[in-house]
Amino acid sequence: MSKNKSSESVKVVVRCRPLNRKEESNGPAGGIVQMDLRLGQVILRNPRAPASDPQKTFTFDAVYDASSKQRDLYDESVRPLIDSVLAGFNGTIFAYGQTGTGKTYTMQGAWMDPEKRGVIPNAFDHIFTHISRSQSDKQYLVRASYLEIYLEEVRDLLDPKHGSARALELRESPESGVYVRDLTSCVCKSIKEIEEVMNMGNQARAVGATDMNEHSSRSHALFLITVECSQPGPDGRKHIRVGRLNLVDLAGSERQAKTGVQGERLKEAAKINLSLSALGNVISALADGRSSHVPYRDSKLTRLLQDSLGGNAKTVMVATLGPSSLHYDETLTTLRYANRAKNIQNQPRVNEDPKDALLREFQMEIARLRAQLNHRKWRSKQKKEQVDGEAWERDEDEESEGEEEEEEVVEKDAEEYVKLEEQRLEMEKEAIKGDQFMLAEEKQRLLGEKERMMGDLRKEQEATAQLTAKYKAMESKLLVGGKNIIDHTNEQQKMLEMKRQEIAEQSRNEREIQQQMLVQDDETLELRETFTSLQQEVEAKTKKLKKYLKLYAKLQCIKAEIKDVNDEHVRSRQELEQTQNELTRELKFKYLIIENFIPPEEKNKIMNRLTFDPEEDQWKFQPLVPAERKSSQMKKRPTSAVGYKRPISQYARVAIAMGAHSRYRAENIMFLELDMTPPNTATLEAEPNQSHSLDNSPNKDRGVRKSRSWCQTPKSLTSSSSNVSLAACHTATPMAAQ
Ligand code: ADP
Ligand code: MG
Repeated sequence: MSKNKSSESVKVVVRCRPLNRKEESNGPAGGIVQMDLRLGQVILRNPRAPASDPQKTFTFDAVYDASSKQRDLYDESVRPLIDSVLAGFNGTIFAYGQTGTGKTYTMQGAWMDPEKRGVIPNAFDHIFTHISRSQSDKQYLVRASYLEIYLEEVRDLLDPKHGSARALELRESPESGVYVRDLTSCVCKSIKEIEEVMNMGNQARAVGATDMNEHSSRSHALFLITVECSQPGPDGRKHIRVGRLNLVDLAGSERQAKTGVQGERLKEAAKINLSLSALGNVISALADGRSSHVPYRDSKLTRLLQDSLGGNAKTVMVATLGPSSLHYDETLTTLRYANRAKNIQNQPRVNEDPKDALLREFQMEIARLRAQLNHRKWRSKQKKEQVDGEAWERDEDEESEGEEEEEEVVEKDAEEYVKLEEQRLEMEKEAIKGDQFMLAEEKQRLLGEKERMMGDLRKEQEATAQLTAKYKAMESKLLVGGKNIIDHTNEQQKMLEMKRQEIAEQSRNEREIQQQMLVQDDETLELRETFTSLQQEVEAKTKKLKKYLKLYAKLQCIKAEIKDVNDEHVRSRQELEQTQNELTRELKFKYLIIENFIPPEEKNKIMNRLTFDPEEDQWKFQPLVPAERKSSQMKKRPTSAVGYKRPISQYARVAIAMGAHSRYRAENIMFLELDMTPPNTATLEAEPNQSHSLDNSPNKDRGVRKSRSWCQTPKSLTSSSSNVSLAACHTATPMAAQ
């Protein structure tokens, strides 16, 4: 599977949007971000610091200022990545930045305006144009999925029941890494279809959220495109390469105020930031290079982007900034974050012939349908020839030659056969109807038979039509290179695009060289230290002094940076502590309720049923009946009730066996000796009638007696302990039954 094991770092580009109207009206203090496009540097001015303070400078792979075009960013920074995806690599582009800095603008842009189309629509164009221009021996299958992560739940944006659907689970397989189970995936045959998929998802996102702005700044949206390409290799077999592209529009990176909220709101606030802070931790751990543990499992987002960060993928991060002085802190945080991400090393490789390639399944299914269809047609043709009276002999040598042509002939023959058959049956029917010598009964029977034959013929025809439709639908999903999917593939346009790519490539190289020169400048200074005259020496020393001054300024910058980072750590630690305090308080409150209001045995029952699901990162209740045994257990009758209406005691069973009165056979009663005790005299005297009736009661001689607990027997003779009674029951059974 692996082809190219070399590692490469995450490409980081920074983009700054123009000042908006509100910010412009704030006065000339305006922008705090300066960009050196040639060097790929961002220079940030602190609006609160004195002008003499050194400005902060960050260097990236590329920077795009307020006047940058969508197309420039795409051609320079995204196009090479999409080309890699088309060659079978995994690729990820994610936009990171504060809300309102242009993440969605960069990723999606304004669809209607070709100048303002963002990375995603441009990628659609790119992918389908590439397919239409590739060689005709290549087959492609393009699929798209769209999901969002909101409050740490993964939701399918292409599911029609998006709003009410339950959250999806993440799974991991050695073949395709981390994936989302049951995620909808749409096969797309054209730009139009994939755009529809995108719009459908965007609508679901907008409908699901009451306040779109609020929602979009709290949820991460992932648009996934899988491009599978099959091409015959040198060994003659078809090889499949699978490129997966993740286009990620992250939630706003601004710090969410966590303090002062409680209960559900606190949990929510903690979750909103969870994925982003986990992303930060993952980036730090990877950039650091020393930590052995990378906390991918801390959040859904980091698990999904596991391959894109430090794994098998090529990754581009677009950090977006606003130029306003109001957001200096956030802008600085974004730049630091982006700066750290530059150090992440990925190990991209071509995904060749993975087991789960859908394209292979499609190819196999198409071949199967084709064989079925051919078989049907040949059968019809054969029948036709038999009808025509020709001996059907197929020349084996002709089979491979002109297969296409022959197929057409077969298809025509099959159609003709159906037509002829119909005509023949119709004629036969007419003949039967017109036959005056035939008995009415016989006529009816023959007509019925012909009707049935016609019905069969039609059914057959319908089945063939259905099969053909299915085959065509399947086949149309596979895109074949060289076919004109897009009509703008004329030569001029091709040339123009190539030129644009060349220019983009050149400016990229130029920037790289400039950056290298900057580094080398400092080093070469020392080498030129041989001087012949005093004048030269003075010059050299002045230069050296300048260099030291430069170094000193750098040192000051770094010192300030360290102080900033420290301050930030202190701030975030304080926030974490506060959150921890609030959560502890909440926990104590819950404990208090449990200790005081829930009986310990109930609590234990609940505790025993709880298990931790590491996949979901949640505590879950075990079902009362284990899932696999559920069906069998629920259906089975209790052993004590086999053969009886309801569970009955051993005693009753013996009673039945001994053939006692049927009325008491199934009763679960205890034999109590106490019933034999004669009533006391006082009662007898007081109620002579009752005693008489008791003596004559029909129960008297029954083997099974009801306990007369209502009878007030003297205390000395009473035995109310059920243990004794039960024991007595067993020993007394044979006797009582006699
Ligand atoms: P985010 O997704 O980061 O919250 P948006 O993409 O919604 O931000 O951008 C906020 C506003 O700024 C939008 O109205 C958008 O049109 C505008 N905008 C962002 N970036 C640019 C840019 N580079 N050029 C022009 N307008 C931009
Ligand atoms: Mg947005």
